[in-house]
Amino acid sequence: PTLFANVPLGPVDPILGVSTAFKADTDPRKVDTSVGAYRDENGKPYVLKCVYEAEKRLLGAPKEYLPIDGIPEFNKLSAKLLYGDAMNGKEKRMVTVQALSGTGALRIGIIFIRKYLPAGTVVYISRPSWTNHHNICKESGIQSAEYAYYDPKTKGLDFTGMINDMKAAPNGSVFVLHLCAHNPTGVDPTHEQWNVIADVMREKNHIPFMDCAYQGYASGDLDYDAYSARLFLNRGFEMFSAQSYSKNFGLYGERTGALTIVSHREDVIPKMLSQLKMDIRAMYSSPPTHGARLVTTVLSDPELTALWVKELKEMSGRIKDVRQKVLDALIARKVPGNWEHIVNQIGMFTYTGLTKPQVDILVNKYHIYLLGSGRVSLAGLNNKNIDYFADAVLDAVT
Ligand code: PMP
Repeated sequence: PTLFANVPLGPVDPILGVSTAFKADTDPRKVDTSVGAYRDENGKPYVLKCVYEAEKRLLGAPKEYLPIDGIPEFNKLSAKLLYGDAMNGKEKRMVTVQALSGTGALRIGIIFIRKYLPAGTVVYISRPSWTNHHNICKESGIQSAEYAYYDPKTKGLDFTGMINDMKAAPNGSVFVLHLCAHNPTGVDPTHEQWNVIADVMREKNHIPFMDCAYQGYASGDLDYDAYSARLFLNRGFEMFSAQSYSKNFGLYGERTGALTIVSHREDVIPKMLSQLKMDIRAMYSSPPTHGARLVTTVLSDPELTALWVKELKEMSGRIKDVRQKVLDALIARKVPGNWEHIVNQIGMFTYTGLTKPQVDILVNKYHIYLLGSGRVSLAGLNNKNIDYFADAVLDAVT
């Protein structure tokens, strides 16, 4: 007998499950376009040169515990990286804590919302979104709902639907908004649309929760990519942001990120920080050292920062290049349908519009792994496999 006979088998994670299947596949032709992690031109994981250099400098750094809220300098630099010139003295009414990457920052932020925003506050998540958003809300005991976002007909933004859903939501709702490079669709609002979103959110007293997993990764320009967060800050919102250094610094497994909350009033900041620290203390006591030290080292050294910016341009540039090559390869094969969205979408992913049966053909017949939703991580493609990919799409679609 066991105490655990009634533990139900949980579903496999829709993203990580596909990568497990990829790893188990022994076919030499296999291609992984499932997981959102950068691969270089040879399909290999990439350690950024600026990180490598910082790592050399950090060799032998003490392994002592960090403060509960992390490295103070890291927190300052993180807020500055995201909010840039829009900070302009507002740092006094902001609180930042180091977090276990973007996921951890979201989690602490959502728990804070459950505890300190009015009972019944609903967290709105784009349809579709990164699947973990709903999990995080559910496990944190807060109700989540969806707002319209993607229009399968245009393979672009359903802007009208999004605005209507914002208007229909109860006043004071939280809206999780992707800073840029929306996952999984690769569809972002234009700057003009962000301004309308800010107007409506203002009218409704909604609270932006910016999920910032790809700053610098969409356009290759850190400031351009931060437009939406800076807009909301400039418009005077009280708001949340969860930053991840997984993609833009390639620090995936180092679990490096930050949560920032902006208030209207400076005097509440010490109290907010005290509560965040109590939650962190009870969950994991203090954050890990290494990734935050790497980011701090790079961001506090102008030369390493310049190298980082250059590498971000290279990574995002390669992905844009892959988009164009995939489109060209599909056009060359006269694959039925319009595939322009592949170059119009931005960031690491393209929402191809492939149906589940078509995805199954790619996976089962061609050993090309992608999500059931048709999401392809372009980082997994390169000059060696783009033709193979396009052949497979042609077969699946015709
Ligand atoms: N939000 C979004 C939209 C993401 O795509 C990711 C990474 N897949 C994250 C948050 C957080 O990832 P991490 O916890 O690795 O920083």
